[in-house]
Amino acid sequence: MRPLLIQGGRIIDPSQGIDVTGSLLIAEGKVSWLGKEEATTQADYEVVNTRGLIVCPGFIDLHCHLRQPGYEEKETIATGTRAAARGGFTTICCMPNTDPPLDNQTAVEFVRSKAASEGAVRVLPVGCISKGRKGQELAGMGELASAGVIAFSDDGEPVLNSHLMRQALQYSLSFDRPIIDHCEDKALTEGGQMNEGIISTRLGLRGIPNAAEEIIVARDLALAELTGGRLHIAHVTAEGSVELIRRAKEKGIRVTAEVTPHHLTLTEERVIGYDTNAKVNPPLRTKQDGKALIQGLNDNTIDIIATDHAPHPDADKLCEFDLAAFGISGFETALGSLMGLAHNGDINLVTLITKLTYEPAKIIGSKHGILGTLAVGAPADVTIFDPNLEWVVDTKAFASKGKSTPLAGDTLKGRVMATIFQGKLIYKDDSINIKES
Ligand SMILES: [Zn+2]
Repeated sequence: MRPLLIQGGRIIDPSQGIDVTGSLLIAEGKVSWLGKEEATTQADYEVVNTRGLIVCPGFIDLHCHLRQPGYEEKETIATGTRAAARGGFTTICCMPNTDPPLDNQTAVEFVRSKAASEGAVRVLPVGCISKGRKGQELAGMGELASAGVIAFSDDGEPVLNSHLMRQALQYSLSFDRPIIDHCEDKALTEGGQMNEGIISTRLGLRGIPNAAEEIIVARDLALAELTGGRLHIAHVTAEGSVELIRRAKEKGIRVTAEVTPHHLTLTEERVIGYDTNAKVNPPLRTKQDGKALIQGLNDNTIDIIATDHAPHPDADKLCEFDLAAFGISGFETALGSLMGLAHNGDINLVTLITKLTYEPAKIIGSKHGILGTLAVGAPADVTIFDPNLEWVVDTKAFASKGKSTPLAGDTLKGRVMATIFQGKLIYKDDSINIKES
């Protein structure tokens, strides 16, 4: 592989506090030099001109669904990782709600070997908390940890048994891996289709109240305090949850939290017209909740942004609202929609990149190598994006099998131009020019 010289862009690497216009040299799959001066162009480089573009560590997604094994009609590791690459993600963590679920070593090894042979980016699996995700009996967490899972979660389902959650948090200590918590009190969400409020009443759809999330957040913060275990709250949507997490952090409880691009940027109003593309779980909330989420990101109550990429085929979405599946395709629109927040001044560009790179890398830890940094010697995982390029979301162009997104046809400002994984250019926009020196 020839060395790659990425020249003239604004290099932002929060892990090193770097924000400089300069060059990045990649050789043998690793970052070999980064600096302000233009590196002397020797023969045999490939040169990527990134003037006017942002160059940063490859994005890391702590929460996505790749659907394989078992639901290959929705997504596969091959299509999902290609979609991730188009979205600027070089490391993605896939949830264990597959068939069979990732509750044993063989299933985890299947995903890891499939990812190694067919994946475009790094795939780090999440193992189940409970056997079969049934919430009754703990999965073999030690076995899963040695098989290489980076965290435990029954995502898609909450762990309703408080004793089981207590045990899981206790064990998270010995394995030094977080428990990723899907917070949903099922007694309150039964039959729920969207956020509970005036709009759900008007549409005649059963609502899902904020309390359904807040109750489990509160319980699990108490259990994290009790055990000292590592808790990570998935897809926070409710204003009250943000406040609970903020207070818990002040008390020194070991908790981290994530928010999705769609909950940050969209509201329940998207459901009006019974648009099944806006049907997600947890549901899109109100403007006030959205503001609290942005505030939470800015004051570090919420540590990271994760896509919750949850692809479904058209057949599962193009139907009556109450029959449609929950979940949307998230990889390929994540940056564009998040850049809207940066353009509005809701969140600073460097903070945004931090929440997509350095912070998720900290949660994963260093068991899988150095991630989320452009430090010399680190794997050369790099995302290059144009912060100002406007483009229209065309789901036909998605690499993901899931074409469902409420952003279809919307114009987004900010687009991934190239993605480099371990020194290899795995995605590039047609307009990016690479020449040989
Ligand atoms: Zn979930």
